[in-house]
Amino acid sequence: MSELEKNKKKASFFLQKFNEIGVLNHINGKSEPALAGETFENISPIDLKVICNVARSRLEDVDLAVEAAKKAFSEWSSMTGQDRKKILHAIADAIESRADEIALIESVDTGQSLRFMSKAALRGAANFRFFADQAPYGKDGESTFTNSQTNMTMRYPIGPVGIITPWNTPFMLSTWKIAPALAAGCTVVHKPAEFSPLTAKILIEIAEAAGLPKGVWNTINGYGEEAGKLITEHPDIKAISFVGESATGSMIMKQGSDTLKRVHFELGGKNAVVVFEDADLERAADAVVFMIYSLNGERCTSSSRLLVQESVREKFVQMILKKAERIKVGHPLDPDTTVGPLIHPIHEEKVKKYFEIGQKEGATLLTGGPIDGPGGGPYIAPTIFTDVTRDMRIAKEEIFGPVLVVIPFNSEQEALEIANETDYGLAGYLWTNNVTRAFQFSQSMEAGMIWVNSENVRHLPTPFGGVKSSGIGRDGGDWSFDFYMETKNISFAITEHKITKLGG
Ligand code: NAD
Repeated sequence: MSELEKNKKKASFFLQKFNEIGVLNHINGKSEPALAGETFENISPIDLKVICNVARSRLEDVDLAVEAAKKAFSEWSSMTGQDRKKILHAIADAIESRADEIALIESVDTGQSLRFMSKAALRGAANFRFFADQAPYGKDGESTFTNSQTNMTMRYPIGPVGIITPWNTPFMLSTWKIAPALAAGCTVVHKPAEFSPLTAKILIEIAEAAGLPKGVWNTINGYGEEAGKLITEHPDIKAISFVGESATGSMIMKQGSDTLKRVHFELGGKNAVVVFEDADLERAADAVVFMIYSLNGERCTSSSRLLVQESVREKFVQMILKKAERIKVGHPLDPDTTVGPLIHPIHEEKVKKYFEIGQKEGATLLTGGPIDGPGGGPYIAPTIFTDVTRDMRIAKEEIFGPVLVVIPFNSEQEALEIANETDYGLAGYLWTNNVTRAFQFSQSMEAGMIWVNSENVRHLPTPFGGVKSSGIGRDGGDWSFDFYMETKNISFAITEHKITKLGG
C-alpha cells in the first residue's frame, strides 16, 4: 500500500467520529448540539464531499458559552501562575501525543499538505509551552518611587475573552491565540472558522482531558456574521482577539463599539520581499519560493510581492520559475505533495478572479494557474505573474493563494516606495549583503516584522503583528499579556506629605 493510501486509511479512521456525530459545540465541559438543532455542512477541499455537519450557533448558544466562561473566571483567574503553568504544559504534552491525528485531520479539513501539517501540532504544543512558562510572571509590573510616594503597578486578567480564528492553519493559530489568554488568567469563548472547524474540537477535548477546569474554555461553532458577531457584541466579553481579513476586523471594531470592546487584530498582508543585486540569490530564491508556495500560499506572512532589482531580474525570475515548476501539486495526504487544494470553492473564486484581473491589467502569467487535481478540488499550481506594475490590483491586494507577482525596481528609493505603497504592513523580507542598506531599508519599511536575509523564522519571545491595515497589537513575549490583562497602579504615601487644604 502506498504512503498516500495508508494516510487516507488513517485519516478516515480518525474522521469517523466526526462523520457520525458532527462537530458539536463544547460548553462548560460538555459537547452539545446548537440549542435550536441547526447545523451546516463542512466539506473537504480534496473532493468537495461533506465530512460532517457542524453546529450552527445562535444567541442562546453564545449566551450559554459566555455564562460558562464568566462563571469559571473567578477560579481560573485566582489560581497561581505556577498552577496554570502546570496545566498548560500538560495540554502541550497531550497535543504532542496526538500529533499524527491532528495533522491528518487538519490536512483533510483544509487541503494543506501533510508535509506542513505534520508540524502544526508540534508548533501548537510549543505555543502552549511558551505561554505556560510566562504564566507565573503575568501579574508582574514595576515599582517607581518619588520622595513622597511609592508606586506599584500590577496586572490582572481582563475577564472572559472572545477568540475568533480563520481557516488557514486553524489548529496552530487557535493555540497561538488561546494559550496566552489562558496563561494570563482569562477564560475563553472560541469561535473557529466555519470552513475548518475540526481540530478546534479536538483541541478543547485535549485541554480538558489534561486538567483544564470546565468552563474555562468554551468552543462555539457557527457563521461569522451570526455566532462570531454575537460574541463581539456580548457585554460580558471583555476583549476580542481576532485573526482574519482586514475587512472583518473593521466590522468587528464597529460591532464591539457599543460595549467598548478591547480588540487585538492579526489581519491580512501583501508582504514585499525585496531582492537587491548584491544578495545571495540562491538563498533568496529558496526563501521566496518557500514563503509563497508553502501552506498553499494561504499564509498571512507570505512573500506575495517580489521586488527585484532590474539588473538581476531576468536571472532571478528564471531561478524561481525552475523551482516553482518542480513543486508537486497533489493530494495533501501524499507525503511528496507541497501544494494541495485551496480551502473552499468560495475562496477559489476569489483567487481565480485575480488571474482575470491581472491579465486584463496587462500582467503576464509566466507559470501556474488553476489545474485539475485528484478528487476534483480547487487546485492552483504555483503561479508567477511578471510584467507587473506597482499600480495594478494584483500588486496591491491580498490574493491569499500560491500566486507571486514580480515587480522590478532600479534604485533603493524606488524599492522602498513600492514596498510601502500598500494598505497592508504585516511582514517584509529583505535580501542584501550591504549592511548599511539593510539597517536603513529595514527601518523604513512599513511592516510590523522584517526578516533580513531570511524567510519567516519565528522566535516566540519576539513580537508578532502588523501595522496599517494588517493589525492592531502584538502577540508573543510579554506583549500578549498587555492585551489580556489590565494594568493597575497603586500609589502609597510614604511620608506625611503636604496636602493642599481647601475649604479651611
Ligand atoms: P475572515 O475574516 O473571513 O474570517 C475569520 C473569522 O472571523 C472566521 O471565524 C469567521 O467566521 C469570523 N467572522 C467573519 N465575519 C465576522 C463578523 N462579522 N463578526 C465576527 N466574526 C466574524 O478570514 P478568513 O478568510 O477565515 O482568513 C483569511 C484571512 O486571515 C486573510 O486575510 C489572512 O491574511 C488573515 N490572517 C492573518 C494572520 C495574521 O497573523 N496577521 C494570520 C492568519 C490569517
